[in-house]
Amino acid sequence: MKKYIFVFVIAFMALTLTACSTEVSNQIPEEIEDTKEIEEVIKDENEANEENQEKEDQVKEIDLQAIQPNEVGEIMVLMYHHVREPEGEWSRTPENFRRDLQVLYEKGYRPISLVDYTTGNITTEAGYTPVVFTFDDGNQNNFNMIENDEGEWVVDPDSAVGILVDFHEKHPDFPLEATFFINGGTPFGQAEWVEYKLNYIVDKGMDIGNHTYNHINFTNATAEEIQAQLGRLNQMVNRYLPDYEVNTLALPFGSKPKDTELRRYLVEGEYEGERYHNIAILEVGWDPYRSPFHKDFNGNSIRRVRASETKVDGVGMYDWLDALDRGTRLRYISDGDANTITVPEEYRDRLPEEIDGKTIRTYTLD
Ligand SMILES: [Zn+2]
Repeated sequence: MKKYIFVFVIAFMALTLTACSTEVSNQIPEEIEDTKEIEEVIKDENEANEENQEKEDQVKEIDLQAIQPNEVGEIMVLMYHHVREPEGEWSRTPENFRRDLQVLYEKGYRPISLVDYTTGNITTEAGYTPVVFTFDDGNQNNFNMIENDEGEWVVDPDSAVGILVDFHEKHPDFPLEATFFINGGTPFGQAEWVEYKLNYIVDKGMDIGNHTYNHINFTNATAEEIQAQLGRLNQMVNRYLPDYEVNTLALPFGSKPKDTELRRYLVEGEYEGERYHNIAILEVGWDPYRSPFHKDFNGNSIRRVRASETKVDGVGMYDWLDALDRGTRLRYISDGDANTITVPEEYRDRLPEEIDGKTIRTYTLD
């Protein structure tokens, strides 16, 4: 018996020591197969460990202590309106917008799409924090076309799209992801360029969201009005992009129907025979929002952070960057694996028991 225990201890140590290398730990069971006795000891006394080992083999190995992922931390969904001079409550200057991108980049934030956020498809590199960009109202300064000195029409380098694309080209590890919430009529102005602009956004991998056809206030809207406002906008987008599905909504003025019975039409409805389904509904205020894996995450009520230079009543983007730096708010740190949700043990209770299609991994900090 003593001998068995000794061999078991050695075998266990070998497994433990090589646990960080999938390749090596995969070879161990083959080697022990020769010695049936040892295998039985391991099977009998360590069944649970083996099962865990199998699960872990499917998980991307990272240095948990160095990276300290926390995928139940919070994520900022940034809200922009105008990109123009001068700086104001609803305006960011081009220079300041560039600086926002630079600061986010240096602080380890990396853009993801709103859809990837709300569906929990987070592929952000290990150790980095996802951030979501949103622009409301389809202002021309979000996407402007200008004629250059050679007489060619080009994207205005001082418009939001121009700045985002330029930053992404200089920093390819800062994905080009943003959602533009537009209204009916002539999104981004310049009627002759609407088709080009909507195609450009989607071709570049960015998104178009619903901000209602007439930028209406939903407070007293009827079921018919809500469905018409959302459906008409979708119809307009589909005239330019027949295959594109608009499935995100930013509430104008952050308004919702007073009659709570009608709120379901914000999520789902029908207009002139076409159905719509919004998988993310965005509020106007005011702080970083929950991880999509948090058990209380609500995709129908995602709060946004106002992107602003000066601190706005303590709830501007730079206030939250400070709070996330200091740890007064919990920052999402990716483990780099979309199918594994990694959290420190002490935060495990913020996740549901199980998450469909994902492996939950916990760890304890040294
Ligand atoms: Zn608006």
